[in-house]
Amino acid sequence: MSKKILIANRGEIVIRIAKTCRKLDIVPCGIYSDADKNSLHIKHCKHTMNIGGTLPSESYLRIDRIIDAAKKLECGLIHPGYGFLSENPKFSEICKKEGLIFVGPSRKVMRITGDKVMARRIASKVSPVVEGYEVSNESNAFDIIESMGYPVILKAAEGGGGRGLRIVRSSQQLTDAFLSSKNESMISFGSGRVYVEKYLENPRHIEVQILADAYKSNIIHLGERECTIQRRHQKLIEETPSPALTSEMRKRITEKAIAIMTEIEYENAGTVEFLFKDGKFYFMEVNARIQVEHPITEAVTGVDIVGQQLSIALGMGLPLKQHDIKSKGHAIECRINAEHPISFIPFPGTIKKFTPPEEDGVRIDHALYAGYTIPAFYDSLIAKLICVANNRHESIAKMKRSLSSFRISGIPSTIPFHISALSDRRFVDGIYNTSFIDEMNLLSSKEGEIAAAILSVLPKKVEFIESTETVDQDVWMRSRFDTNMPHPYDTYKWIKWK
Ligand code: ADP
Repeated sequence: MSKKILIANRGEIVIRIAKTCRKLDIVPCGIYSDADKNSLHIKHCKHTMNIGGTLPSESYLRIDRIIDAAKKLECGLIHPGYGFLSENPKFSEICKKEGLIFVGPSRKVMRITGDKVMARRIASKVSPVVEGYEVSNESNAFDIIESMGYPVILKAAEGGGGRGLRIVRSSQQLTDAFLSSKNESMISFGSGRVYVEKYLENPRHIEVQILADAYKSNIIHLGERECTIQRRHQKLIEETPSPALTSEMRKRITEKAIAIMTEIEYENAGTVEFLFKDGKFYFMEVNARIQVEHPITEAVTGVDIVGQQLSIALGMGLPLKQHDIKSKGHAIECRINAEHPISFIPFPGTIKKFTPPEEDGVRIDHALYAGYTIPAFYDSLIAKLICVANNRHESIAKMKRSLSSFRISGIPSTIPFHISALSDRRFVDGIYNTSFIDEMNLLSSKEGEIAAAILSVLPKKVEFIESTETVDQDVWMRSRFDTNMPHPYDTYKWIKWK
């Protein structure tokens, strides 16, 4: 008899997980909130249950309703996906108590990885970490930072997803930054614990994908992912291999990642994140779940990471050994968000046309269709475009072709941003850091010049439109409201001809 799994998430990741489940003869079941009654993920699950609510706190974060759904749908396993309850030790523990197999690490491991302070303490035994301390209140923070020196970054000790992060460059900025970091942490994670870390100027973010079967002491890595292109400390473009690493550096970072995960006694799939600057790696944190950007690793290694997660969780172990992992080619992922491509302000709305690109080596993970209204309650990520090719140069070219033929109309998206970014000389040369977007300064290629034209024209117009509602003044914004308008890409031409 085949097994049933509840995929306790929404959107593209449910569809992606369901695909592997079907291959393994595991029946995918799903949940959906009231706001997600029209979500495509429902169609990809054999059985589904409405758990009500709209906000995450009323729906995908409700452990009671999710456990209830798992029981009613007779599921033996729960896959949490990413976000929501995926790194919640209580959820993992309750699943276990209720006799459900949680696809992810144990509560014990998640308690360590979910606490940046504890994870750093353990990781520091085997890896450099950026200097940092937990702070109890503002005056304590002041004293500690005085001895460390500015700039520093405040973080939610039990947080993630870029929330609670505040860069503080002088003592004058501390009061506001401390209060807003603490408040955001309280609202987002129910914990007001703050910790302060030395802020490294312009580092790179490089992470290592790990698979671990703690029971059999088999732990391997699937190489690194370069995730430096970020806005608001959240990733927008990822690539593998990292253009910044020599093979000696790659050996060092992957060995460190394995040492850290071994120290934590990690199990299942997880990621070790590092900051990289001046040839040195600094441990940042462990993400105890499948990552949004996992497809690029799958693209170059051929390993189905979700399949490995299920195998480990089901007690069938990790059949792969390190020498089985042979990386080939170069992969890039662009996160397509329903956001203004310059300000990155979320713009949920109804999709009028949806035509994804088609080419060998192109993968699109999404839950979109023409007529779908993106709910305003959740993350703005709507699709992931992944391109793989023999080398980095071909991979960038394929990504640019795919982005240019990708039609999503009715809403603005980050597609124009990606076209500009991939044409940027710094990206092409692989020499970039986390300030890439802030410094966005467009370049020499034709697409770049056109994109630059848009970038120079848009901000003023968007401001104007938003304040006066004279939508027709701007072609790009108009395409959001009018199906007959050209897609934002076509406005490249429009601006040029004009
Ligand atoms: P979260 O868990 O909220 O995602 P992280 O600790 O992973 O936060 O950091 C997110 C991003 O913030 C990093 O990728 C990096 O760009 C930036 N960052 C975090 N810590 C530092 C630091 N000490 N110095 C410089 N940048 C940092």
